[in-house]
Amino acid sequence: MNKLVIGNWKMHGSPADLWDLAHAVQRDGLACDAAVCVPFPLLPAAHSALQASPLRWGAQDCSVHAGGAHTGEVSAELIARLGARYVIVGHSERRVALGESDALVAEKAHRVLAAGMTPVVCIGETSAERDANETATVLKRQLAPLARVLGRALSAVVLAYEPVWSIGSGDAAAPGVIADTLGLIERTLHFQAGMHQGAMRVLYGGSVNPRNAAAIMACPGVDGVLVGGASLHPADFLDICRAAR
Ligand code: 13P
Repeated sequence: MNKLVIGNWKMHGSPADLWDLAHAVQRDGLACDAAVCVPFPLLPAAHSALQASPLRWGAQDCSVHAGGAHTGEVSAELIARLGARYVIVGHSERRVALGESDALVAEKAHRVLAAGMTPVVCIGETSAERDANETATVLKRQLAPLARVLGRALSAVVLAYEPVWSIGSGDAAAPGVIADTLGLIERTLHFQAGMHQGAMRVLYGGSVNPRNAAAIMACPGVDGVLVGGASLHPADFLDICRAAR
């Protein structure tokens, strides 16, 4: 399976930034499967700038509702109509700040799949949970509704293990920790959903940069990376994609 690199622009970026990235991809090529997930208002610009590019695009959240009277919400269907291929759901910045539950995240993943796109489901423990030795419990709790709600469709999900303590800290998890945790995730998916190794793509996210990307992507079980800050700089993003080889 090709490695997958996804940029999460969070609440950053502009149409001009998308065109810069599109030109950089056109000039240098893409070394692996890659996408950039942008704020909602930038989706039309992503469509314009990237429609002829191998780089895909996506959103960072969607409504749990299919449609209707939900002021301020954006449905997966509307996102799909703008050519998006991916939607991040359950990012810790939404789980922690907005109280999104494991069940809600699973329902959102279901909406994304129903709209014909790929959900990128984020899971991961906080530093307090890690210090309390609760990583396994937290990951199992986060994964359980996914298996229940999605059933066999779970294999169409991209899972992103993003330890909350490493996001934006400059302190990526050590390769040994990543490999151990992905092993735990794999055993959990086998137990909860009968899934076999390699049945779904699993990414690592948290302070990935051009210097650590190759070592992270060489970890057993890592199918790619979800990149925040470094994805805002086209040269860094493309260097990370090159590290996927
Ligand atoms: P950083 O790469 O900036 O640590 O962010 C990771 C992240 O949250 C990607 O979703």
